[in-house]
Amino acid sequence: MIAKTGFNIKAVFITHMHTDHFVGVFGLIETLSLNERREKLTFYVPEEKAKFLATLFRMFGYHNLRFPIEVVGLRDGDEVNFGRYRILAFKTEHTTPSLGYALIERDRPGKFDRAKAEELGIPPGPLYSKLVRGESVEVGGRIITPDMVVGPPRPGRKVVYTGDTRPCERTVEVAKDADVLIHDASFTSDLQSWAEETKHSTAREAAEVAKRARVRTLILTHVSARYSKDATPLLEEAKEVFENVMVAEDFMTLEVKYRD
Ligand SMILES: [Zn+2]
Ligand SMILES: [Zn+2]
Repeated sequence: MIAKTGFNIKAVFITHMHTDHFVGVFGLIETLSLNERREKLTFYVPEEKAKFLATLFRMFGYHNLRFPIEVVGLRDGDEVNFGRYRILAFKTEHTTPSLGYALIERDRPGKFDRAKAEELGIPPGPLYSKLVRGESVEVGGRIITPDMVVGPPRPGRKVVYTGDTRPCERTVEVAKDADVLIHDASFTSDLQSWAEETKHSTAREAAEVAKRARVRTLILTHVSARYSKDATPLLEEAKEVFENVMVAEDFMTLEVKYRD
């Protein structure tokens, strides 16, 4: 409500079943119910915890709501397709079964070279769209193939969210060349052993993952309350390793630009 995103929610992805990461869904469900929602809402969760969440929902009587609620368990490598983009689940390392999620946008068609098309005598209109879709067309007895007027496909954007985790290889792999990596950075390095014990990451570790994955922007999140007044120690530590870094704030928005 505060972020004014509206309630047009199709699915909810839960990284792991620690209460600070999922109790919000109950209030959300009640609100959607008051808003007279009718469409199905799907909750994705690490598969080991799917039964547990479904049981909680039943205990709260959510099977009697006027919109269906579905719980789907996911494993490392599973994908959920939303058309223009997909969500890839990847295994992370925390004190309970946990997943990170990558939003991976589809590549967009290449740029259409209008001047070149005119030069080749292609009349503007439906033939242009055919070429952009990757189909060849015939103009005055001559075959024009898409590569003659359409550039190479342009990469879609990739945003990766780790949830609570130790730094891990799988994150580096999934976050390769990502536009944005949102990584656990609960502590600074003076609390390294505490980070290891609680299976969280330090700001330095998050920055090392970002550097190795060659992401464009790193956002530090899940910041411990001890830095709530001043997060600069986290930022400074991360910056020693990776320059383009920010600390997440509630309701922060970030425009993720295309690469071209
Ligand atoms: Zn946790
Ligand atoms: Zn947490």
